[in-house]
Amino acid sequence: MGRTGPSRRDLLRAAGGVLLGGVATAAADPPADGIVDTHVHITDAQVPGGRGGPGPLGPFDPAKDPDGPARTAKRIGDELTAAGVTHALCMPAGDVSDDDPLGVRSTAEQAKLVRGAKLYPVGVLHPERFDRNHLNKVEAELEKGRVKALKAYLGYFHYAPTEPAFRPYYRLAAKYNVPVVLHTGDTWSRTAKLKYAHPLPVDEVAVDFPGTKFVMAHFGNPWLADAAGVLYKNGNVWADLSAVRVGDAKAFAGWERDGSLAREVERVKSGIDFVADPGKFVYGSDWPLAPIATYRDFVKKLFPAKDHPAVFRENARKLFRL
Ligand SMILES: [Zn+2]
Repeated sequence: MGRTGPSRRDLLRAAGGVLLGGVATAAADPPADGIVDTHVHITDAQVPGGRGGPGPLGPFDPAKDPDGPARTAKRIGDELTAAGVTHALCMPAGDVSDDDPLGVRSTAEQAKLVRGAKLYPVGVLHPERFDRNHLNKVEAELEKGRVKALKAYLGYFHYAPTEPAFRPYYRLAAKYNVPVVLHTGDTWSRTAKLKYAHPLPVDEVAVDFPGTKFVMAHFGNPWLADAAGVLYKNGNVWADLSAVRVGDAKAFAGWERDGSLAREVERVKSGIDFVADPGKFVYGSDWPLAPIATYRDFVKKLFPAKDHPAVFRENARKLFRL
C-alpha cells in the first residue's frame, strides 16, 4: 500500500518542533548525506591571547561588536549551506563559570540564530577547574547528552595533555562516550606556548586512558610526522584536518596559482599516507579562519574520491555519535 501523507515520525518531529520553537535543534533533521564540519567557532573562543594573535580566534569580538551575533549567524549559515555542510561541531568558550561549567552557553545562544545546519556544542576542558564541585557540574552537563565532545585548548592554556588536572575529565569522557578534542600544533596566539600543543604527549594519555577517544585538532601541524606516529599507533586517536592552511578565498586562490597549495597537499598527504587509514581523519574548517567551501575543496585534495564519504561524514558521525 502506498503512503501519501507524512509519516508518523514526521508528525512527531513536527510536534517536537512546535514545542521547542526557536531552539536550533527543533528544525527538521538535516539530510543524512551532508558534510559534517567537526570544527567551527561561532562565538569568541575567549582563550588567553586569542585576541592578541595574528587575528581574532572567533567571528566577532562580543565586547566591541553588538551586531556581531546576527551578522555572524547569517554569514556562517550561508557558508554552511553553500558548502553542503549539514552538521557542525561548535568549539566552546575558554572561560567557565559555576552555571556554565563547560563554556557552552555563548555557543548555544549563538546556535539559535544560525540556519542551515544542525549545530552541536563542544564543552571546554578547563585545566584550572578540577575541584570536585566543578567536576560534578561537568558530569551533570554530560549526563544531558547535549554536548558531543570536550575540547582542551592546549598551548593557549599553558598545560600539556598529561596535566593531572585533565585526568578526571578523560575519565568522564570515557564514561559518557564523548571524544576529547585536543588542540595540537601551531597556535593562533602570540602568548600561547607551542610545547604544550606538540602532538607527541597525546600518545601518553592515549595509552593511559584506553577507554577515552582523543581527536588531535589540526593533525598536529606542522609536526605531521609526530602526529601521524601517534595516530598510527593508537586505536583511540583520530585527527581533524582543520586550519592546516588559514586564509580567505583570495589567499587560497593565490596559493593555488603560485603552487604552494599543491606542495602543502603533498606534505599533508605524506602524513596521511603514513597512517594508512582514512578512518582516522575527519574534516573540519576552523571557520572563521578559512571559508568553509574553500577549505572543503582543499581537504578533498588530500584523499582519493573513494575516501571522501568517510572523511567528510561517516567517520565524524560515528566518532561523535551524531
Ligand atoms: Zn579552532
